[in-house]
Formats: sequence, structure tokens, C-alpha cells
Amino acid sequence: MSSLSTLLHPVKNLRIEIPPLSEDIFETKPVKPKRCCQEGCKKKLMLTDFACKCGEYHCSAHRIPEAHNCHFDFKEDHKEVLLKTMSSAITAKKIDSL
Ligand SMILES: [Zn+2]
Ligand SMILES: [Zn+2]
Repeated sequence: MSSLSTLLHPVKNLRIEIPPLSEDIFETKPVKPKRCCQEGCKKKLMLTDFACKCGEYHCSAHRIPEAHNCHFDFKEDHKEVLLKTMSSAITAKKIDSL
């Protein structure tokens, strides 16, 4: 009897899990503009182009933050990462001393 149930379970799991997963991918996918976000630049974006940290898409010429007047605060981001590593180091120390 047990050999029969192990045979049926994988199939059951597959039928339940696949539809919601694929739907989720389509719904949460951000809309990618077809052209560069830089004003005056109408260059088409490649499929391989990815969004900048500020959330905008740019062509290869405007991809670097300096080229598109990037409003993402890289210094703040760095500070946040630094703070996170620092706090995790402190917690690690606290645990170590206990
Ligand atoms: Zn551009
Ligand atoms: Zn940017």
C-alpha cells in the first residue's frame, strides 16, 4: 500500500504547485519600457538591458548613473549596507560574549 501512495504524491504536488507559480511571475513582473528613459534619447532597449538602482531603464550609453542624472543615492545605500554589517557584527559579538 505504501508504495502506491509514494507513486501518486509527486504527481499531485506538481498539479497543485505549477499554475499559481507561473501566474505569480506574470503578475509581479515590472513593466519594462521599450526605449531609453533618458530625455531626448529614443534608443531601443535590448532584452538584456536591466534597470538601474533608481528603477529606470537606459541604453548602454546612459546606463551609468553619471550619464542619466541618477537620483539614486549611492552614498546612502553604502551607508545602509555599512550599518547593516556593523549591527550584525555587534550582534555576533554579543552572542560570542554570552
Ligand atoms: Zn539612452
Ligand atoms: Zn539611475
